[in-house]
Amino acid sequence: MSATAHALELRDLTKRYGQFTAVDAVSLSVQRGAFLTLLGPSGSGKTTILMTIAGFVAPSAGMVLLDGSDITPLPPERRDFGMVFQGYALFPHMTVAENVAFPLRVRGLSRADRDAKVRAALDLVQLDRFADRRPSQLSGGQQQRVALARALVFDPALLLLDEPLSALDKKLRAELQEELKALHRRVGRTFVNVTHDQDEALSLSDQVAILNHGRLIQLGAPEALYEQPRTRFVADFLGKSNFLQGLVQESHLGGLRVQSGATTLVQQAPRALRPVAGSPALLSLRPEKIALLAAGETAENMVEGHIAAWSYLGAGFLLVVRTADLGEIRVTLPSWRAPIAPAEGLAVRLGWSADAAVPVLDDAA
Ligand code: ATP
Repeated sequence: MSATAHALELRDLTKRYGQFTAVDAVSLSVQRGAFLTLLGPSGSGKTTILMTIAGFVAPSAGMVLLDGSDITPLPPERRDFGMVFQGYALFPHMTVAENVAFPLRVRGLSRADRDAKVRAALDLVQLDRFADRRPSQLSGGQQQRVALARALVFDPALLLLDEPLSALDKKLRAELQEELKALHRRVGRTFVNVTHDQDEALSLSDQVAILNHGRLIQLGAPEALYEQPRTRFVADFLGKSNFLQGLVQESHLGGLRVQSGATTLVQQAPRALRPVAGSPALLSLRPEKIALLAAGETAENMVEGHIAAWSYLGAGFLLVVRTADLGEIRVTLPSWRAPIAPAEGLAVRLGWSADAAVPVLDDAA
């Protein structure tokens, strides 16, 4: 962690446009040097929050704090944050080095100081050999790296990124994700990134804030969010999940017994997530947590069904299994080990352990 990394806090941040609330009392804090991603569907308020942090949008209520100081009234230029925004393009008439030097010229640095910093920034994004090219002579990925160098060259307190990789094709995006992660580690600064790409959020971030309709739904480390989503929206937005509905028959120390038609499900659950007996329960069960049971094999939870559809994924198989009590269940298998090849109509038995699913709140509107 760098000594110049900064901690960011949003306190009850709210932005209204007339009657419409784009950001609704969002509170969160980001540790020094951490990589935070704001993740949510289109219109969930991600860009508005980023623009409020940058100072381009004034909040209707709430505060932005940097290292504990209220910076809400400061104009963007006094905040001095690095930015890589969508459509925040490079200057086409300038070389790569001139583009990167631009923020330093604006700040009145001498030629010698500029040159040293530009070289260091281009080195950081591994583009030192391209200093004299024009942006039009670079690939899309290289242009984005120049934009990153330009945003980092003046040692900003925070780096703000708004979908920096969204215009790139899938393979290049994956490559740049790795680079961005490595870059974050090298510079040790606090990064705030906006995306609607779940994979990008999970692979890049230390913390992910899941937003919907301007509200913060859950904040956490990628693994915690994926493994312990608090609501149906979070489970559904971060990857695929099966949602099993039933009535709580028993709620005790170890967890729950949930009745769904003729099927009884056993489910571990910490106290805070245990609905009381008699109330409805919703369980989120990830497709990769389910096994195909061989003859005679048992599991804590078992259900019979028929394959309604299947597909080969390269890295494994996806099955859609139709069951009488639990509806359609999606299963992903790393390999197919049954003696009979997968086929529509094939009878199968699915099994999963009592800790495979998680009880979630039903926030589906
Ligand atoms: P996307 O992924 O599509 O960029 P987002 O999550 O970044 O979406 P925002 O751009 O923050 O969403 O917008 C949040 C909501 O606020 C949207 O419904 C948008 O229409 C609305 N909004 C944003 N700016 C304004 C504005 N200047 N005037 C009125 N409404 C606005």
